[in-house]
Amino acid sequence: MKGKIAVITGSSKGIGRAIAIALAKSKDYSGIVTNARYQTEAEAVSDEIRSMGCNSIAIQADVSNEKDCISLIRQSVDHFNRIDVLVNNAGIQEDIPFTETSLLEWSKVIAVDLTGPFICSREAVKQMLKQANPKGGNIINISSVHQIIPKPHYIPYATSKAGIEMMTKTMALELARNNIRANLVAPGAIQTEMNRELKENTKLMEAVIDKIPMGRVGNADEVANIVEFLASDKASYVTGTTFFVDGGMTLYPSFLLPSSHDLEKHKKKANS
Ligand code: NAP
Repeated sequence: MKGKIAVITGSSKGIGRAIAIALAKSKDYSGIVTNARYQTEAEAVSDEIRSMGCNSIAIQADVSNEKDCISLIRQSVDHFNRIDVLVNNAGIQEDIPFTETSLLEWSKVIAVDLTGPFICSREAVKQMLKQANPKGGNIINISSVHQIIPKPHYIPYATSKAGIEMMTKTMALELARNNIRANLVAPGAIQTEMNRELKENTKLMEAVIDKIPMGRVGNADEVANIVEFLASDKASYVTGTTFFVDGGMTLYPSFLLPSSHDLEKHKKKANS
């Protein structure tokens, strides 16, 4: 097989599914490993990929479980002989006020969003260090604008996303000489099942859109396009950085104030 091999965690739906399909469509890949906690859902995406002419297997694994993460990487290598790209995408969030967050709820989110990417990356990097032709590999961690924007009621989620930023930067530094790149893609508000309330609650949607300079939520393909770029050789000199895919959400939209020129025009219009 000549193309690259990619493993995408949490790729049965949403952003992960869009990434798996985007990589499969690109001519660079000859094998895609899909994953989710439920085999049949991951299998459906692998079926779709195979129907596009790219080889694919689905591996059931819960990334909050160390043994499952080790098995996910081992089975991927057993099947495809190598791993060129690992995308740590699987993620969950819980809406709970800080003082009501139990240790169990804290640990559950940290396990999926931070510990899972650590174990999967560690195991994939062990494999990447052994590889030649081409040497090395590529880790892409799906973070969030909440790696830098605090998110009240989502303390474990925001903490995981801030943590994964430092984990990725440190990996990038430690592994740069081994030709292993590590980067983050940090989405803003993307229409997926994770935030289905946005679709159902017009008031909430308006409040969110108010914080997005581009005036709309994004879609999963817009995140997948950036992952595809970062995983490609076009990004061969990019490591340890974050690409925000957020319609400008991290640009302090509250500073979008009317200029004195606009205010003067408004005053003149009101007086005429
Ligand atoms: P989603 O639609 O809820 O999909 C999550 C995927 O992860 C599913 O395939 C799910 O499948 C899988 N998953 C969940 N827990 C898992 C586990 N323990 N082990 C393995 N797979 C698991 O979420 P999404 O919106 O696409 O989010 C994907 C990533 O983007 C997450 O890291 C999220 O934090 C990040 N993000 C999303 C947004 C957004 O607005 N949507 C914004 C910023 C960042 P199963 O449930 O079948 O296991």
